[in-house]
Amino acid sequence: MVDGGWWMAGWDFYSHGMRIMRSLLLAAAVVAAASSSVGAQASTMGLARDARIAAALADVTPARLRMMDSMLVSFGTRHTLSDTLSATRGIGAARRWIHAQLTSFAKDCNGCLRVEYDTGSAVVGRSADRPTASLVNVVAWLPGRDTNRVVVIGGHYDSCICSVNSMDATADAPGADDDGSGTVAVMELARVMGKHFPRGFDASIAFILYTGEELGLLGSNQFAERLKREGKTVTAAFTDDIIGNTIADDGRVDSVSVRVFAVDSLAVGGGELARYVWATGALYQPQFEVLPVLRLDRLGRGGDHRPFVERGIPGLRFSERLENYKRQHLPTDTLNAVNFSYVAKVARLNLATVASLAAAPSRPEQTAYARDRESGGQSFTIRWSPVPNAASYELLVRRTTAPTYTRIVPVGNVTQFLLDEQLDDVWVGVRAVGADGHRSLTTVVGAPGGPRLPAQRR
Ligand SMILES: [Zn+2]
Repeated sequence: MVDGGWWMAGWDFYSHGMRIMRSLLLAAAVVAAASSSVGAQASTMGLARDARIAAALADVTPARLRMMDSMLVSFGTRHTLSDTLSATRGIGAARRWIHAQLTSFAKDCNGCLRVEYDTGSAVVGRSADRPTASLVNVVAWLPGRDTNRVVVIGGHYDSCICSVNSMDATADAPGADDDGSGTVAVMELARVMGKHFPRGFDASIAFILYTGEELGLLGSNQFAERLKREGKTVTAAFTDDIIGNTIADDGRVDSVSVRVFAVDSLAVGGGELARYVWATGALYQPQFEVLPVLRLDRLGRGGDHRPFVERGIPGLRFSERLENYKRQHLPTDTLNAVNFSYVAKVARLNLATVASLAAAPSRPEQTAYARDRESGGQSFTIRWSPVPNAASYELLVRRTTAPTYTRIVPVGNVTQFLLDEQLDDVWVGVRAVGADGHRSLTTVVGAPGGPRLPAQRR
């Protein structure tokens, strides 16, 4: 199928017209890459735009985000060990307000969201006197056709002044950016997605506000463990954590890009998830740059995607491009430094990504490959396990050094395909395409440590 030639021209050419279009696209990509501060060019990776998702993005409202974050700050402190009885101060009042807000969103969509407290407790291992913390996450579920498959999007509503004293549960800890910003983004997503998609998607969505993050990811650990115990399949787990600062302490400004942190484990698929977010951003919000960072988190830092990644689930963290460390874990993390237009852009990226993944089928669970004898070993037969509700499949190809996929091969509704690639030299991903054109995450063929189909008898 491919007419030889050099690699950049190695995108699959099916017609002369496509070839001309691709060279034009390539020229545009080269120009864009030259003007990019990051260098690597985003690719939409063959994802299809959904007009209903695009319409929902417009409903994410900066003013509402600001209003909700100002309410969170008004509770004084949201330290996990703070007062739970007061109606106006402390983490108890904060979570009851969050629960009431989500419940009102549920009412507005005729009960499409199921709101609950996710409760438990854990010993705070990082404190010398090891207190037991009561852990109350707040969850809004948007059930899908498959209630056993879940896409998780969370933020942590607890706050601290950890840079002064991580166990101080009474002093003011406004946490407007960390993580009031992520909390209100997730709440806004629950509202907007409930309004636009009251019947849900293929997968269910958990909009979750975690507690205990600042004491060691306790709330997210509890929820990840619960989903595992309940036998849920988690397609992806995202966290929004500090997504509202646009001015660094040295005066640098960036309100036009966001970082996504994920481990590029081929077996687990964190890098595949980062590439999916990168492509989705380029498709729905091209003026807002996604900067994939292929490591778990910032150096020496952690977030609520980690407990999922530790359980073999693709997890990813959204964080502002520029952090201001004088406004984190301190009484100075105040509302006036949060840019809510910026938070809205991150929330729109969240929405497009979560909706696309939830609307798509699962990715193929297992893959296998075999060197093709007839071509002298230069082609490979790729096989994969069938996916319920898949209308067709696609193979995606990238060089092992390429940041994202450069060739997309539609193969129809089959579970085996002879691919004209030397698999020794590239990474190939396989994904499922739903009837309405939504694409699943990719499963990397022959990923070290990844799940394999049993060998086929010849
Ligand atoms: Zn945080």
